[in-house]
Amino acid sequence: AGCSAYTGRFAPSPTGPLHAGSLVAALASWLDARAHGGRWLVRIEDVDLPRCPKGADQFMLAQLQACGLLPDEAPIWQSQRGALYAQALARLQADGWAYACACSRADIQQALAAQNALPGRHAERVYPGTCRSGLGGKTGRAWRLLSTADLAARRDLTLAWQDRRLGAQTQNLSQAVGDFVLQRADGLWAYQLAVVVDDAAQGISDIVRGQDLADNTPRQLRLQTLLGLPRPRYLHTPLVLGENGEKLSKQNGAAALDLSDPAASLRAAARHLGLHLSGATVGEVLAEGVEAWRGFMMPASPLAPGSGIALKE
Ligand code: GLU
Repeated sequence: AGCSAYTGRFAPSPTGPLHAGSLVAALASWLDARAHGGRWLVRIEDVDLPRCPKGADQFMLAQLQACGLLPDEAPIWQSQRGALYAQALARLQADGWAYACACSRADIQQALAAQNALPGRHAERVYPGTCRSGLGGKTGRAWRLLSTADLAARRDLTLAWQDRRLGAQTQNLSQAVGDFVLQRADGLWAYQLAVVVDDAAQGISDIVRGQDLADNTPRQLRLQTLLGLPRPRYLHTPLVLGENGEKLSKQNGAAALDLSDPAASLRAAARHLGLHLSGATVGEVLAEGVEAWRGFMMPASPLAPGSGIALKE
């Protein structure tokens, strides 16, 4: 039975071509959308435009197309949506949750070193909150979000969510992340703000993405709450590890997706999700994949010892 309210998305950053790991995330989000009878969208997350080689976006879209993963609407590009992010920031500023920060990287390193030198202190890595109570005459460079539960007493804030694969998750945002950046000193928008604004603008009900992003979720939940936006459901998929045991990523030089046989690449991605498919063509593999995914079996994962249990719907 389909759920018409379902809208999913794949939201790649076009810093290079898709690799085997990105296909797992793309396929999982596509399968979940189709298994729910829902819509599936693609969003190009090119907020960090200087890090996105020209043409990488079109190349990624062609890779998806070769794998039969076609969005139900024309993709959107985050680099064209700055006005929406500015609106969201303005609201957080007006409500007192966003504050200007004048610290350079060196300032932050220095403040942390001084703080960590105090006896009995655990090593802190999060922003020490130097600019929380004003700039002291300096010029603001970036905008940060106050990561506490309240504006005045500034108590720690712990966020909880139920991940469809990982189960119950919690994070003390104030301690684990601290006051995170919304807009960088160079004017570029932070992923955390852009992703929350766009997921709401696109009516995304379900976020299915790689497990490397799981610990970003509490930042996004917090922004959803402060901006009065709905909270989607989350499913974080098993990561594909390279031979060195590290997550495949463009940064560590993962090879572009092999498209000499797209059906074979799809079968390999599906296998990583615990689905053993035999279709010979892209169409067959995808149709078979939707049926298999409908069982809501937990994707088997080298990172999830408890694999094999049903997804928690
Ligand atoms: N653009 C992010 C990335 O490529 C993913 C964003 C998301 O799925 O929330 O890592």
